[in-house]
Formats: sequence, structure tokens, C-alpha cells
Amino acid sequence: MLNLSILLEDSARTYPDRDAIVLGATRLTYAQVDGAANQVANLLVQRGIEPGDKVALMCPNLPYFPIVYYGILKAGAVVVPLNVLLKGREVAYHLQDSDAKALFAFEGTAELPIGSEAKAGFDQVGTCTEFLVVTGDPAGSSQIEGTETFGQAVANQPATFETVATDQDDTAVILYTSGTTGQPKGAELRHRNMRDNALASRELFGCDASRPDTYLCVLPLFHSFGQTVIQNAGFAFGGTVVMLPRFEPGPAIDAMLKESVTVFAGVPTMYWGLLGALQQDTDMETLGRNLRMAIAGGASLPAEIHREVEKRFGVSISEGYGLSETSPVASFAPYGEPPRPGSIGKPIPGVEMTLIEPESWAEIEWSPDAIGEIAIKGHNVMKGYYKRPDATAEVIDANGWFRTGDLARRDEDGYYYIVDRSKDLIIRGGFNVYPREVEEILMTHPDVSLAAVVGVPHDTHGEEVKAFVILQPGSSRTTDQLIAWAKEQMASYKYPRIVELVDSLPMTATGKVLKRELA
Ligand code: AMP
Repeated sequence: MLNLSILLEDSARTYPDRDAIVLGATRLTYAQVDGAANQVANLLVQRGIEPGDKVALMCPNLPYFPIVYYGILKAGAVVVPLNVLLKGREVAYHLQDSDAKALFAFEGTAELPIGSEAKAGFDQVGTCTEFLVVTGDPAGSSQIEGTETFGQAVANQPATFETVATDQDDTAVILYTSGTTGQPKGAELRHRNMRDNALASRELFGCDASRPDTYLCVLPLFHSFGQTVIQNAGFAFGGTVVMLPRFEPGPAIDAMLKESVTVFAGVPTMYWGLLGALQQDTDMETLGRNLRMAIAGGASLPAEIHREVEKRFGVSISEGYGLSETSPVASFAPYGEPPRPGSIGKPIPGVEMTLIEPESWAEIEWSPDAIGEIAIKGHNVMKGYYKRPDATAEVIDANGWFRTGDLARRDEDGYYYIVDRSKDLIIRGGFNVYPREVEEILMTHPDVSLAAVVGVPHDTHGEEVKAFVILQPGSSRTTDQLIAWAKEQMASYKYPRIVELVDSLPMTATGKVLKRELA
């Protein structure tokens, strides 16, 4: 018997008056968050939600996210977090595919009408019967016609609840991910998968409830990275989670200074954004002194960004690696050892990692330069893709090894280095070009701020290497100059023959560069 909600409940019992969540001027203690989650659980039971039922949650980083998340878990139900950028038709797909019985959705804003899109999706799925709108003002009414607000629905629910006994192998969360190809699939994560990954932060980040951390929560909580590394780990170790509904570099720096943030976790583009927002008068000394852990993951961290953050913040970034299917953390820079830029560290305790031949799944013959696909086995690997045994069998073998689609090499000390995703590999005239390598080189040019490299179709070479480049502010460098420079720096089959200067790059809600939209 174990329910993931125990992470919150244990801290609420031990530190009831400690701040669990901070959002602007709002501060909620552990007792308040746990009590509100109990109200959600009571509401769900009253509405007929039974253990094992799926309940979807479409909400940005607001206190409601963890409150509803843990409320669903307490009721023994399964949380299905949805990306807040989904449109009505996509919401319908996710509700249908996950067999969701209920949907909680934040009302949203004029620019991001989350609630209306959620309602449009909900209306198309007859099997999903409860729709609750989460409004900014708990007592206020919903602007979306014919809907009930979450605040009004929970107002009269008791703040105590006997958490439903679930087995640790029961599904706790279904996280939708596109995986390597095709339609989004629901990665089914057990209570123990998510618990063990959150508790791993004791060894990975040196978390300790007697010396609580303050986390900046800018990674979206509907994604596995923010959910485990910030929300679940934060609550498990009695920390304070400082929320920003979306990542904006200036407000993020202000919040870090104001709340004395000790743990920051972000994708590389967030670090890039922070560097761009630092002002002459930013109190770097305080920032660097408070910040105990700077964590990066979700995409390759360019060495230039690593170096620059180290120089300006005085903090070295610890990089980790993982996927939604692995709860998500699979490897991390060993705690207490100086991080090795460019490396995703070593497998975390209780997790094995190896390199395999993509075709045969056989382990590759190791050498420091040998490249193989990362395979992972351990407590973090999902049960499978929900209702998709064939898709599951394509990624998990009979011995429990999960193949990731990411190519890497391993050094003599056991540190792994991501080379690229196998699907991002460019094959130009028969030669393999790893976009990441080209991006790293381009970013050493003093005028290049950020680079993203993709393959575009080519008549004779099959594919051609193309770079999208954001220049440093004020630079007047031309594409021809950049191409000429790149030609000097790398082998002739690798350098980008096509360079396009852009002001921004398309990104996922998590902040990863969306390569498939670049071509
Ligand atoms: P998601 O399921 O959305 O978390 O995406 C997982 C994918 O993100 C992995 O398969 C990798 O391609 C990528 N990823 C995660 N962490 C890293 C990292 N540190 N370096 C490079 N790629 C990463």
C-alpha cells in the first residue's frame, strides 16, 4: 500500500505551518495545501470517481495544480496532466485516449483561453462527465457558459480525507508524450515510479527536510521534469515551491532574489533567457550565494551556456537526463563532484543504463568513441503506454530494458554524453551529421547567441545541413560570413550550407526548441 500523495501528507504532518507554495503575495502552508487536496478528494468521491478512474488536469503553474493533483491521487484515481497549449480537438483526443471521467481546467486568459479549449474538447467526449473550471478567484463564477467552478464545488467539502489505499504498482499518472514518433501516447507511471524518482533528489541534489530548499517553479508542472524534480521532490523534502505561471526571465530573476531561491531547474533555453535578462544592477552576489543547485535537463545544454552561467552566477550547472517514460530522471551529474560540461552524468541509484545497437538491441562494444542508443532499466521505467501493448513492446524488451531513441557515448569513468536523438540525425551524402555538434561549434562564434540545426531535403545529398541562428544583440553579421566561418571550423560534410537568421525559435511549452517546425 503506497500512494504517491504520501509525499505531501508526510510533510503536512511534520511541518504543517511551513510555506509549501508561494505565488506572488499568496503563501500556502503545508496544512493548507493538504487540506485543500483533501477537499478535492472528497469532491471526486462525491461525484462518483472510483479508484483507478482517470481524471485530467489542464492547469498552468498555480497552487491549484498540486492541490488537484494530490487530491486526485488521494481518491485513488489516476492523474492525466494535459499541456495547457492544447486546442479543443487535441483535448478531446487526450480525454478519449485516457478514458478520462473528469476534467479540471484553468479558465485561462484572453491570450490563452485554456478553459474554452478544454470545454470544446470535453463537449466532444461523452464518457467524460465532469467538467470543473478553475478560476483565479475561488469564490467567483465561471466565464465559460454552463460550467461549474472548482472553487464553488469544493467550498463545502471537508478538509479531511482517508487516502485510498493503492498498490505501489497501480498507475498514478499518465503522461502524454509523442515518444519518438506518431500520435501522443500515454506513459503509465506507477505510484512507486514517481515516488522513487522524487525521493532520489535526496542523493542527487542533497535535499534534506531539516534544511529545506526554496525551489523556483518555472518548468510546467504538466511535464514530467517540473512535476518530479520541483513539485514532488519539493514537497517530499518539506521545501517551499515558488511558482511563476510561465517562464519570463526578468520576473524569474526577481523571484529568485526576493524569495532566496536555493534550487533552480530549467531547460537550456531558460538559462539562455536568464543570461540575456541579467542587468548591470542585478545583485549577482546574492543570487549566486543563495543558489545551491542549478539543474538543467530536457535538452542538451550547450557548453557555451554552461560556461557563461558559471561565470556570471558563480554556480555550476548540474545536468540530468530523462524522459516522460522514465519518471523522468535516469542520469544526473553525481552530487558533490564538479559537473562535467556536456555530460548528462551517470545513471541514478537503482537505475542501469547501457548503450545498444538500434537494430539488434545488442549491447555495443564499448570504446570511448563508440556511439549507441541509450537503454534504461530500473525503478523509474514506466509500466507501458496506456492501452498500446504494441507500442510498448517496441520500446521495452522482455528483460525490462527501455530504449530511448537517444544516441550517446560513455567515457572511461562511466559518464554519458548525449550525441543526439536518433531521429534528429542528419544523413548528408551518406555521412552522419549530429546537429548538436554543429550547434555547439556555431555557438562558439562570438556573434551567435543561439543556434538550432536541422536537416532539409536535398536532391543529390539526400539531406542538407541548415542552421537557424539568433545573433547577439547589435550584431550585423551576415549569413555568408557565418557560413564562411563555419566552413573553417568543421569538416566539409558537416558545416551548414544554409543559414537563416531569426529573432526567435519555436519552442514547446517546456521551452525545448521544436526542431520539427524548423525546416
Ligand atoms: P520528454 O519525454 O518530453 O521529457 O522528452 C525526453 C527527451 O528529451 C529525451 O528522449 C531526450 O531526447 C531529451 N533530453 C532530455 N534530457 C536531455 C539532456 N540532458 N540532453 C539531451 N537531451 C535530453
